[in-house]
Amino acid sequence: MTPEQFRAHAHQLVDWMADYLRDVGSRPVTPDVTPGQVRALLPATPPDEGEAFSRIFEDFQREIVPGMTHWNHPGWFAYFPANSSPPSILAEMLTATLGAQCMSWSTSPAATELEQVTMDWLRQLCGLPDSFTGVIQDTASTATLVAIISARERARTRSDAPLAVYASGEAHSSVAKAVRLAGLGDHALRVVPVDGSCAMRPDALRQMIDADRAAGLHPACVVATVGTTSSTAVDPLTPIGAIAREHDLWLHVDAAYAGSAALLPECRHHFAGIEAADSYVFNPHKWLLTNFDCTAYYVRDVPALLQACSISPEYLRTAHDADVANFRDWGIQLGRRFRALKLWFVLRSYGAEGIRAMLRQHIEFARQFRSWVESEPDFEVMAPSPFALVCFRHHPAGMDRAELDRHNEALLARVNASREVYLTHTRLSGRYTIRMAIGQWQTTEAHVARAWELVRGAASCEL
Ligand code: PLP
Repeated sequence: MTPEQFRAHAHQLVDWMADYLRDVGSRPVTPDVTPGQVRALLPATPPDEGEAFSRIFEDFQREIVPGMTHWNHPGWFAYFPANSSPPSILAEMLTATLGAQCMSWSTSPAATELEQVTMDWLRQLCGLPDSFTGVIQDTASTATLVAIISARERARTRSDAPLAVYASGEAHSSVAKAVRLAGLGDHALRVVPVDGSCAMRPDALRQMIDADRAAGLHPACVVATVGTTSSTAVDPLTPIGAIAREHDLWLHVDAAYAGSAALLPECRHHFAGIEAADSYVFNPHKWLLTNFDCTAYYVRDVPALLQACSISPEYLRTAHDADVANFRDWGIQLGRRFRALKLWFVLRSYGAEGIRAMLRQHIEFARQFRSWVESEPDFEVMAPSPFALVCFRHHPAGMDRAELDRHNEALLARVNASREVYLTHTRLSGRYTIRMAIGQWQTTEAHVARAWELVRGAASCEL
């Protein structure tokens, strides 16, 4: 494909992209496919000869798009959002065009320095301490693995005893995975009980640390979550931080979803105590208008991070190494995409106030949805809603626990069968719970109201 052919195809593609973004809400949010159906449409062997771009693009529209789940559909209320935006998409096009491999300062000086600037802008916007230095990782899972490895390395300088890592039972599964991948063994993860709002109990943390010390273990790290995956519970950072300092534990704070809310002064109290963290992660690719993947990882002690991750083979060394940040040494991977560009486009296009307006709107929609749930005697909310997630279930009289679970599972299936909206579930204290996570940039009050209408309709059908 010559540059001139590229130009013509790119114009065609951008027209398709603009139409898609405008009309995505009129598509079904989830595809109507069974396992293997898309694969069966595709040739089992690769082409010998190059094919015309027009045919590839036609096949994309005919065979691939109908099999996609539309994460940027305004009726997307599942999991957490993967909130993206037109400026971010445009920057991704430029990132792909530049095709830079941003492993070292010298392999793309502007990419490294823009990453430093955007990470510091984000730090300021979120009110994070100026002792924090940021780097972009691919995902929160990777950032948490880096944090656990950093904690392990620090602990190993103090003790040879088996290490223990603490997190609540509501912490994301990436914590358990990181403990395993860091070679600590699954038994090293100590699950701290939660209170009635699903937040870690500091008293229980302290007791477990004392018991583990007495049993000859070396407590190395505690992972606190601001905005747990199931219910957006907030672990109390101030007492957890005090315990971490007292016992010389690494404190890693996972705010993968909720971290964006720190842009709002009225949400800052959820992050009180963050200055005690050794590392902190949040995902602009969840609720900050930035395409997946883009994870902000902040550390207090850069040398500790380098100690854990830096290896400099001869072929990567340059004359500037002593004066620059080589981000290959700040994480797991060597090769790195130019992710800072999309964040820069987003922060400049919307500005802090534009982003705050979106976040406030989503939080207000969640407040409204919650008030509708609360106003119906047969429905109940299942957890506090500090951000833009509402956990709820239908609770008609006369059903036992198992019947209620089955009833709500069927209700959710009926809502999702509409393919107008998409919600997912969790279990809170063992009880089947429906999650309504609001966070797409094109979601309006009408989409939220429609979701509630579908839920109510499905509830009356199920009775
Ligand atoms: N931590 C929390 C609290 C999450 O909710 C999630 C995903 O939803 C993750 C970590 C994992 O995020 P990622 O997909 O970026 O690894």
